[in-house]
Amino acid sequence: MARSYVTPGASKIAESRVSISTRNVHRRDSGVRDVVSATALQPSTCLLPKVNRIEHPICDFYTSTMPAPRVVYWFRTDLRLHDSPALQAALDLKPECLYPIWTWDPHYVYRARVGVNRWQFLLDCQNDLSKGITKLNGKSKLFVLREAPQTLFPKLFRSWRITHLVFEKDTDAYAKDRDREVVKIAQEAGVEVVMRSGRTLWDSDEIVKAHGGKPTMSITQVQAVGAKLGPIAKPILAPTSLPDPGDMKLDFAQEQPGQVPDVNAKYRKDEERSYDTGIAGPLGNFSVPTLEELGLKPATTPHRGGESIALAMLDTIIANEDYTATFEKPKTAPTAFEPQATTLMSPYLHFGAISVRLIYHRVEEVIKKYKGKASQPPTSLTGQLLFRDMYFAAQAALGYRFGQTYNNDHCRFVPWHLPSKIDEKTGLITGEHDINDASAEEMFVRWREGRTGFPWIDALMRQLKHEGWIHHLGRHAVACFLTRGGCYVSWERGAEVFEEWLVDHEAASNIGNWQWLSCTAFYAQFYRCYSPIAFPKKWDQEGAFVRRFVPELRSLPAKYIYEPWKAPLQDQRAAGVLIKGKGDPEHQQKEGDYALYPKPMFDFAERRDICIQGLKKAYRVGMFGNHQKVLDGTWREMFDDDAEGPTKGRKGGPGGTTAEQQADGLEEAKDDAPVTPKRGVKRGPPSPKATVSSKRAKGQETIDGAFKKMKRKGKK
Ligand SMILES: Cc1cc2nc3c(=O)[nH]c(=O)nc-3n(C[C@H](O)[C@H](O)[C@H](O)COP(=O)(O)OP(=O)(O)OC[C@H]3O[C@@H](n4cnc5c(N)ncnc54)[C@H](O)[C@@H]3O)c2cc1C
Repeated sequence: MARSYVTPGASKIAESRVSISTRNVHRRDSGVRDVVSATALQPSTCLLPKVNRIEHPICDFYTSTMPAPRVVYWFRTDLRLHDSPALQAALDLKPECLYPIWTWDPHYVYRARVGVNRWQFLLDCQNDLSKGITKLNGKSKLFVLREAPQTLFPKLFRSWRITHLVFEKDTDAYAKDRDREVVKIAQEAGVEVVMRSGRTLWDSDEIVKAHGGKPTMSITQVQAVGAKLGPIAKPILAPTSLPDPGDMKLDFAQEQPGQVPDVNAKYRKDEERSYDTGIAGPLGNFSVPTLEELGLKPATTPHRGGESIALAMLDTIIANEDYTATFEKPKTAPTAFEPQATTLMSPYLHFGAISVRLIYHRVEEVIKKYKGKASQPPTSLTGQLLFRDMYFAAQAALGYRFGQTYNNDHCRFVPWHLPSKIDEKTGLITGEHDINDASAEEMFVRWREGRTGFPWIDALMRQLKHEGWIHHLGRHAVACFLTRGGCYVSWERGAEVFEEWLVDHEAASNIGNWQWLSCTAFYAQFYRCYSPIAFPKKWDQEGAFVRRFVPELRSLPAKYIYEPWKAPLQDQRAAGVLIKGKGDPEHQQKEGDYALYPKPMFDFAERRDICIQGLKKAYRVGMFGNHQKVLDGTWREMFDDDAEGPTKGRKGGPGGTTAEQQADGLEEAKDDAPVTPKRGVKRGPPSPKATVSSKRAKGQETIDGAFKKMKRKGKK
């Protein structure tokens, strides 16, 4: 039987530990630091290996003589005290001291797109958690250490004489890399790592394993796999006390991060200074940083973070039994604001300020007692949480590839405008894009800035930029408009904007939903587009939502609110607005006493048809992101020169780019059946039969087909 040498309670938590073997114990005891673990890290779906502990006399000796655990609890995706399996595991160690810490990682400060609203939300969550910790132990709080975990931990482990590092599992692509490195560092320092899943209903890695290593592409798949894994764990209560932290000496130097490139520079009004005042911050007390320390402009969102706010919000939702039990996502109004029509739990879930299992079980309790007809997944509230698990597990299966078309065997290849540039060494997108067409770039910029001339789209994009949150169907509308229902711009451009501006940005959900909306994965009904006129009219005849976020149109008669270009000049003048120009902020935004609002940037019906034709061709060609032709640029042979997108010529760049460059890292594509390219002048798309290119492509069609069937039963 596996046996712990640390603490009697620890055998319960042995399942996801990286431990030191008896051999390691011996070495550590003798002061040797370069401990080699008995097990190697497995870079596959499961981050940490299971370790069978060996019963051995030296173990028993060590158990009786070793000091009590000195534990670092590393907060990351779990800014809460309630229902935290990882925190519980830390407390089960019966530590002599517990250091609740956050490592202020330069990766997020400089390299990940994070707008000021999400920074504020994070700082709110950290401050609230810190207060919560102090309530449980007056000597403790959230200690924020300003250094990258990879360089900080080796020094910290030594200086604070740490025996255990405990944290919640993070299955995001960067986080997996980081954690592998940290686990290795811990092993080398003889520090035992305890990791627990806590961010999702089921452990995403376990879902992947039970699904044969494949990404989950529908919630019926998640439900089927979930049934195999067993019931969703019941939430754990918050602790009622916490151990003291130990001494906090910093007898080592801080490693300063490189500040370039700083993708968030545009949000800073001053220099970023969060690493300038040492590891413990400007007051030397490990305080939560401020927006000022980050050099950021003030946030504009009304949404504020924190576990206490999230729990109070959940109480209010649950108290409304009808709302909770009969919630049907497609019936919630995307035009509702103050209050919005859905729960707004997403940013709290993102930062782990609320537990997803707590929401799930509290909703289930209401449903069990509910006398009327309760809604069911996929449209019910619990169904929404299943979608979240679906995307998390899809990402856990695919890693970095999930976030891009290039080399992604689950993402359809469409020759979108503004494709991502590819780093040929890593095979990853660089964060920059290819401007293949100036007018597509202009469409993209106008979409991003809320100046398309379609008030519904502009109102949503302005709400997103200002508040950091928009309703799910609003996200559908703007995502469809940018990709397959208007601009024919790569979904990767839209996902980047969302990544920057959403307070609830969750890599898995964002990427997955953008693929869904662009019909590149998860969903295939590309002929169903959202009209920027008919769709919002259904919800909001008077246009209250547009009037709120596009104040130029505040006084326009309701019949023109979604099509202001149709308003006669006289009505425009009476409403104090003129519909003209492109709404370019560089130029005048007023003409005399009149506000200016742009003309629509295109004829929607015309663009929708162009997009549908483009998608039709791409589906017929049937290539996925890992197809050899997508990797080496010969994808162009498969599309007419005059097709929408950068299709002209016979050879493009990798992944839909226009450059004539050869991509590296083509191994993934070797098992793909080759597509026979058209010889000579391109005439038209090859027949569907000849070009459905691989088993995987066929598999995807089956999945899409299965989803269609499911959709007929109950719409998302
Ligand atoms: C293009 C696009 C991008 C998106 N990006 C994100 C993102 O970055 N982060 C994010 O959390 N959600 C994202 N979503 C999903 C969804 O829009 C939001 O989760 C939801 O609108 C959040 O509001 P709510 O908390 O009121 O949701 P509710 O309807 O009240 O649902 C409760 C919870 O279920 C989960 N959920 C609901 N719908 C989805 C969904 N389709 N996919 C995944 N989880 C879901 C969320 O955690 C949400 O908080 C995106 C959707 C689209 C169409």
